[in-house]
Amino acid sequence: RFISFEGIDGSGKSSQARRLAARLSGEGRQVVLTREPGGSPGAEEIRRLVLEGEAARWSPETELLLFTAARRDHLERVITPALGAGKIVISDRFADSTRIYQGATRGDLRATVDALHSLMIGLEPDVTFLIDMNPETGLARAAARGDGEQRFESFGLEMQKRMRRAFLDLARDAGGRIVVIDGNGSIEDVASRIDAAFAAHAGP
Ligand code: C5P
Repeated sequence: RFISFEGIDGSGKSSQARRLAARLSGEGRQVVLTREPGGSPGAEEIRRLVLEGEAARWSPETELLLFTAARRDHLERVITPALGAGKIVISDRFADSTRIYQGATRGDLRATVDALHSLMIGLEPDVTFLIDMNPETGLARAAARGDGEQRFESFGLEMQKRMRRAFLDLARDAGGRIVVIDGNGSIEDVASRIDAAFAAHAGP
């Protein structure tokens, strides 16, 4: 089974992905926890090129091509072999992040994102947990970690709000694949919502 986590910056998706992976491994399942952008050695190199370079170094189009190349490598070397071996793959971000970032917020390339996805990737998660939360709280958490300095010209509350809206629109149009999880409250509160959603959508 292939599960992804998505959400705005500071939504807690990485902690929740890690926690679900640990819980399932603790139950004796074979789990591969991975992330994007990155997840394989080649894709992690591309992540560094894009995220640690100057903010204006790549156009949205070039960024889309680089992230698609990274995803293709991640898929070939990590995701497909693990799924083939019957493991559960949990990815902190997958193609929905590209639909939002390059497709709707930083770029306006959704048609190109979709075309490249069907040409080069073609795989969707069985279920995606979208951790939805108050943009102010997400921003405060991300800023406390210093994420905003990474590269984002327009990082701020307006951007967080646009991203949240775009993720919720995507969830509405995804035909049930994307399960919206209320990300407000403590880590434990959110974790128990995810466990319930996992049992309902991806279990046993
Ligand atoms: O999830 P994580 O914090 O590792 O992501 C790193 C950064 O990469 C995020 O701040 C996100 O804004 C950015 N990103 C992006 N395009 C993607 C995926 C992530 O610009 N497709």
